[in-house]
Amino acid sequence: MGRGELAGLSGGRDRGRVRLTSFDPTMDLPSPPGRGRGLVSALLLASFLAGCVPAGRKPPRRAAPPPRSAPGRSGAPPSAPLAKAYEPRVLNQCYADLRAQGASFQALPDKVTGGGCSTLSTVKLVRIGIPTANLGAMRCQLAERFVEWTDEALQKAAAAWLDSPIAKIESFGTYACRQINNAAGNRLSEHGSANAVDIAGFVLDNGRRITVKADWNGPDENARNFLRAVHKAACRRFSVVLGPDANALHHDHFHFDMGRGPYCR
Ligand SMILES: [Zn+2]
Repeated sequence: MGRGELAGLSGGRDRGRVRLTSFDPTMDLPSPPGRGRGLVSALLLASFLAGCVPAGRKPPRRAAPPPRSAPGRSGAPPSAPLAKAYEPRVLNQCYADLRAQGASFQALPDKVTGGGCSTLSTVKLVRIGIPTANLGAMRCQLAERFVEWTDEALQKAAAAWLDSPIAKIESFGTYACRQINNAAGNRLSEHGSANAVDIAGFVLDNGRRITVKADWNGPDENARNFLRAVHKAACRRFSVVLGPDANALHHDHFHFDMGRGPYCR
């Protein structure tokens, strides 16, 4: 987890955990693995995180069950944004890091969009090492990790497992203001703060298309290994990484976010 994310999001730090200031009991997510309730908590997190399908995509027919308690279920979602803007020093450092990575980007103005959603301290990635379709506003630290993942992990994995480099990344998007599973009373998705990105597949130089949906459990062992390699590489860079093994809602994409973690499945 990045320095800036901690500084930007937290109202205090507890041994590396981020605590959000606008909290509700449905957001009481797991302790880090190895601290007691690891497994149960991790499973709970997976169900909370299940609904990261961006706006505009229909949620699967069978959604994960709602959280055990949902105060506010009958009420409106909080109007205060879930996320906070980074401190200026942190944001400027993030911009500098993006430039050092060779990324071309546009800094976006802060917006509070209601319902707890916002795009604060976000950028629009204009040009990075691998063209990526459908990226919108991203929290700067998320963008930085994303560029790092594309630069350092993707072509390496392609060279190891595929017979062609990656020409294009296909994304399902970044910002979407909604609650997890699109269910009233659920916690807001990290997508509601532009703090998450969904990756659906890759197009290779030779024209071949590899998708999470078709190839994660597909017949081609090399494609399966490639997808597992880039998933694993994502787990070293993002706070939360979810794929088809996490739950059915992620059968067709990887979800990466910079919320509370670490969680990798
Ligand atoms: Zn997602």
